[in-house]
Amino acid sequence: MNIHEYQAKDILRKFGVATPPGYVAFTPDEAVAAAERLGKETGATMWVVKSQIHAGGRGKGGGVKLAKDVATVRAEATRMLGMQLITPQTGPQGQKVQKVFITEACDIARELYLGLLVDRATQRVTVMASTEGGVEIEEVAKTHPEKIIKVAIDPLTGLQPYHARDIAFGLGLQGKQVNKCVAFLTAMYKAFTQMDMAIVEINPLVVTTGDDVLALDAKIVFDDNALFRHADVAAMRDEAEEDPAEVEATKHELNYVRLEGNIGCMVNGAGLAMATMDIIKLYGGQPANFLDVGGGATKERVTTAFKIILRDKNVKAILVNIFGGIMRCDIIAEGVIAAAKEVSLKVPLVVRLEGTNVDLGKKILAESGLPILSADNLADAAEKVVSTLKMKAA
Ligand code: GDP
Ligand code: MG
Repeated sequence: MNIHEYQAKDILRKFGVATPPGYVAFTPDEAVAAAERLGKETGATMWVVKSQIHAGGRGKGGGVKLAKDVATVRAEATRMLGMQLITPQTGPQGQKVQKVFITEACDIARELYLGLLVDRATQRVTVMASTEGGVEIEEVAKTHPEKIIKVAIDPLTGLQPYHARDIAFGLGLQGKQVNKCVAFLTAMYKAFTQMDMAIVEINPLVVTTGDDVLALDAKIVFDDNALFRHADVAAMRDEAEEDPAEVEATKHELNYVRLEGNIGCMVNGAGLAMATMDIIKLYGGQPANFLDVGGGATKERVTTAFKIILRDKNVKAILVNIFGGIMRCDIIAEGVIAAAKEVSLKVPLVVRLEGTNVDLGKKILAESGLPILSADNLADAAEKVVSTLKMKAA
């Protein structure tokens, strides 16, 4: 799960990570009030107005602006709120800005990169740091891999001061900056482990002209499997930032991921779903989604799954591939028919059933009067669904 920058900074601040103060605002008036409040509390005379969307690269899209007076804070907040912010990470349609973060500006001497993530290769929490801050780390990894410092942390000892000092020296920090970096990284590691984060990324981590070491940006991704331990974090979910189809799927305990192709897939079991996508590709087709309806799919769930698949206007055919182990094939067949009728299905539907009561299931499909193509095995199903599309195109 992703959260916004202002929420990430609130969490990190609680653990002692240094970051400039700021407040979130939903209207231009609130933005002005936030700037004035910062002025009173910290003596701030310069602010940064930052669009809060879940994608990065906001600066490049005009979503981060420096304001030298309160009038500019108002003007920038007015411009940003409600706009479709397009960044290299949002896709061409952009993402609507519904709130802005008003923060105290600081004088930047250097922009660095600091991140923590779970590295699957070493099976350890790994610190990544680079002198190339402000740039996408994937880009640095590609063009200057030698400029990325990596330190894997033993879970038994946790992050030790010497790890942090190694990083600080590797980043070329000097004097007072070194201890500030050690304190920063120690607090960040504590936040990461205690809050079950999957990624925390500070880009840029800045060194100010006054030798402070601050998080100017913050991105956190939480491990969804541990969210039950953090109700306060789960409450930060911002559904407006997520694909509506994926939000709907989560509510019905369906695992749905939208993809670029045009063949909708409804499958039970993640492994079978992956295999289905593979075989569609093998036969020259492109899956429109990954969808795992799970083990206990009911008629209602199958109907919901159909509706979610059909929300995607790119879908030109659907392949249902279900193994009836716990679930019986006749129940699935009835579910498929009821759902197809309810959504008045207009695209070709290929169904491959296997498992308990498979013959009864196929009979029910055949007698339904609906134009459902029944398939005998996975390869047959993939071939049939791909050829229906070719026929359409011809
Ligand atoms: P991103 O583009 O979405 O990654 O947003 P960031 O929060 O990283 O901001 C983009 C850039 O704006 C940073 O790399 C900085 O150069 C600049 N910036 C952000 N906050 C400040 C600030 O307080 N002072 C100054 N001078 N520049 C800032
Ligand atoms: Mg950034």
